Amino acid sequence: MDQHDQSMTRFSIFSLAKNALSGHANWPEYWRSPEPKPAYDVVIIGGGGHGLATAYYLAKVHKITNVAVIEKGWLGGGNTGRNTTICRSNYLYDESAALYNHAMNLWEGLSAELNYNVMFSQRGVLMLAHNTHDMQVARRTIYANRLNGVDNEILTPEQAKEFCPPLNIENLRYPVMGAALQRRGGTARHDAVAWGYARGADTMGVDIIQNCEVTGIRVEQGRAVGVETSRGFIKAGRIGCVAAGHSSVVAAMAGISLPLESYPLQALVSEPVKPAFPCVVMSNTIHAYISQSDKGELVIGAGTDQYISYSQRGGLQIIEHTLEAILELFPMFSRMRMLRSWAGIVDVTPDRSPIIGKTPVENFFINCGWGTGGFKATPGSGHVFAHTLATGEPHPINAPFSLDRFINGRLIDEAAAAAVAH
Ligand SMILES: Cc1cc2nc3c(=O)[nH]c(=O)nc-3n(C[C@H](O)[C@H](O)[C@H](O)COP(=O)(O)OP(=O)(O)OC[C@H]3O[C@@H](n4cnc5c(N)ncnc54)[C@H](O)[C@@H]3O)c2cc1C
Repeated sequence: MDQHDQSMTRFSIFSLAKNALSGHANWPEYWRSPEPKPAYDVVIIGGGGHGLATAYYLAKVHKITNVAVIEKGWLGGGNTGRNTTICRSNYLYDESAALYNHAMNLWEGLSAELNYNVMFSQRGVLMLAHNTHDMQVARRTIYANRLNGVDNEILTPEQAKEFCPPLNIENLRYPVMGAALQRRGGTARHDAVAWGYARGADTMGVDIIQNCEVTGIRVEQGRAVGVETSRGFIKAGRIGCVAAGHSSVVAAMAGISLPLESYPLQALVSEPVKPAFPCVVMSNTIHAYISQSDKGELVIGAGTDQYISYSQRGGLQIIEHTLEAILELFPMFSRMRMLRSWAGIVDVTPDRSPIIGKTPVENFFINCGWGTGGFKATPGSGHVFAHTLATGEPHPINAPFSLDRFINGRLIDEAAAAAVAH
């Protein structure tokens, strides 16, 4: 299919009705599968949500369309398609609030922007507090959020139960002492985010190349000049590495050692049931979080394994512990059957904040370290990283998230604030 055909594919009530009449057999493909060209202005390594969003904004905002996204598997097959889709922006520090709220603002218009339904649902994210320390952290975060114009409010246990009726607030091993609620928070459909950005980027001329692994970064006199791939060498003006759990592997190809540890992080879903769970509930103390997908499955997230690994399977004891906690908080789910579980490889920095910007190798840029909580940032991350790749300099929002903060000590320590950050 050529580019012209792609740009003709707009979803509307009329195109839906027209295609319904022909049994939905004539929808065109969402994106082309081109052969890689010998050279691009920008090569993006990693076809997850962040890489695809970066390509989209490079083309849309900066009019740079001679761009390739190189993905070793299939689009969204990494953490993008494996996460529990929680979106919120109530982070503690000013830098984080700016970044995640930038994403939240983009989420709110994303389906219209992409002409593709990413099923963004602002059903509210409730973060439970189980002890005095949790309550103090919740209050501190809420006050900081308000100074940054980020909505967040404290609820009593009774108000939390009113907002989420399945929540048990009595006779608990993990007592619910209160909760923080971000009403603007919620969920989005993860695959749709990858597909929507891919479709939009492809329409503007970006080449999306799947089943193509980057195996080396060619560096000449301190400057990256291209990528070695399983389909040959591709010259690049600039390279953006957005490889999540494998970022340190790719960066090492350019001789860069990143301050990252990669861990398996698991999630699981139940059999589908009728709508029973109205919001998202998280407990950082127990390390469990839950929502219900539009298909009806309970989507449950666990903690990371305690050891580093690139295996996309986690330890059984981790999800057992999570389910014990979920059942105490929501006893009505005690007879639900679990359908499947899986893991993704998350790239964790020492301060639990991402790294977005330059590296010591000229023309080689990184966007990584999102750890357990980068899905929510996808639109904002892509937007600011596109700016960084287009101009060679960070956007003001991602400037604090530089690699050299681990040398100069200007850390953005969301770990100490939250213990975990989803
Ligand atoms: C179980 C789980 C639950 C989570 N829950 C949440 C949540 O509720 N909310 C939230 O905000 N975040 C959550 N996250 C984190 C979130 O999923 C990630 O931070 C985010 O999706 C990262 O997106 P990405 O595009 O950077 O990475 P990915 O989607 O992983 O994309 C990176 C891509 O790079 C490709 N790649 C790697 N190496 C190479 C190579 N050499 N050559 C070519 N391609 C390569 C990979 O195949 C992959 O597709 C969760 C993660 C997991 C695993």
